[in-house]
Amino acid sequence: MSPLLDAAADGRNSTLEAAIAEAHAGYAAMRPRSAQLHTEALATLPGGNTRSNLFYRPFPTAMAGGEGCHVTDVDGRTYLDLCGEYTAGLFGHSCPGIQAALHAAIDQGIGLAAVGENEARFSRLVCARFPAIDQIRFTNSGTEANLLALALARNHTGRGGVLAFRGGYHGSLLTFVAGAAMNAPLPVTLADYNDLAGTVALLHEHRETIGAVIIEPMQGSGGCIPAQRDFLSGLRQVTSDLGMLLIFDEVMTSRHTAGGLQQLHGVLPDLTTLGKYLAGGMGIGAFGGKASVMAAFDATRGGALTHSGTFNNNVLSMAGGVAAMEMFDAAAADALFARGESLRSGLNAICARHSVALQFTGLGSMLQPHFRTGPIIRAVPASAREDGLRELFFFDMLASGVALARRGMAALSLPVGDAHCQRFAAAVEEFCASRAALIQDAA
Ligand code: PMP
Repeated sequence: MSPLLDAAADGRNSTLEAAIAEAHAGYAAMRPRSAQLHTEALATLPGGNTRSNLFYRPFPTAMAGGEGCHVTDVDGRTYLDLCGEYTAGLFGHSCPGIQAALHAAIDQGIGLAAVGENEARFSRLVCARFPAIDQIRFTNSGTEANLLALALARNHTGRGGVLAFRGGYHGSLLTFVAGAAMNAPLPVTLADYNDLAGTVALLHEHRETIGAVIIEPMQGSGGCIPAQRDFLSGLRQVTSDLGMLLIFDEVMTSRHTAGGLQQLHGVLPDLTTLGKYLAGGMGIGAFGGKASVMAAFDATRGGALTHSGTFNNNVLSMAGGVAAMEMFDAAAADALFARGESLRSGLNAICARHSVALQFTGLGSMLQPHFRTGPIIRAVPASAREDGLRELFFFDMLASGVALARRGMAALSLPVGDAHCQRFAAAVEEFCASRAALIQDAA
């Protein structure tokens, strides 16, 4: 074990509670600077941060910097970064092409309050690769993109109701995963993911009021649960029949091919929302789709809708976006997808070999551990034991030098290579072996 790693906990398989307590203690002992920063931040930031999903007990690790697919914390420990900024960090932390584009943009001057070359170039690059996007508008975040797409759908259909799915996450104001949501006051009807018959019935029942169906073609925050192709094509059919707009939230999933999951499945929504990695790591969101729908914003005609936003076309995001779209071409997207598929099947083979109640779901470069056996086609509330095991998994991975999202999700970035995947697989193997007694009876 490297001297950087946490001290291995003794008496590993006693009880889950004891194992987590031990993991917390080992974690806290090695991170005095993170602990201090957290305590100081509590005075002016409720909970010590400004991004809720980065909080975890006893206190979150504060990072000082990153290079390639590694991050270094403020106590000097370096980790393999498989969190990948929740998919936004596709290019890693120091991609020369992205850095050059951003430096060049800064050198030209910021805050120009004007349209610019990169804005139109970025839009052409995005429209060229996503089959369902003829025209696009940029925003600052995925949340904003989804709110605007829903507002556009209401304007287009004259119906303000929205159908979304349990386990869906479309931003901090459109949260349908477990937990305390603080949602926008929209009339939302919830359906079960991958339940076509149930969803069709709900849409028929509310056909007078629902104008939009919004769906992640693979639920990300909800647990990396892919939509079945028939489910997506069934939604395409019923929404067309009932005059509703189908919105694919591809904020996360657009990385799975150059043209997102809409391309992979051959199912084309009316509107698509994007974000995360799209601008090379700069703040971004986007919504786009059929020219006939997007024409509502066309100010060269009379009566256009207004969509303003000071930073919609900020020069850093536009420059980062052009560089990102040029670099992340179809070959790069396909190679990343293949790497993720092979990692996930390798991890699942490890779980099977150890006969543990653990599996990894997902598609391509996004994967999520679930402490249960059997097929997972929709989000189910996790038991306290599953939650505990996920927590233990997170801390054990940190202790072996692998940083994941707190919920366990991994999102591979482009600098991640074979050796990094093998390192993660070895850490999972060690977890399965050393925690076997705790994992076997998880569900
Ligand atoms: N949609 C999906 C599918 C997401 O995963 C997220 C962010 N995790 C969002 C929307 C919101 O994006 P942002 O955080 O940029 O507001």
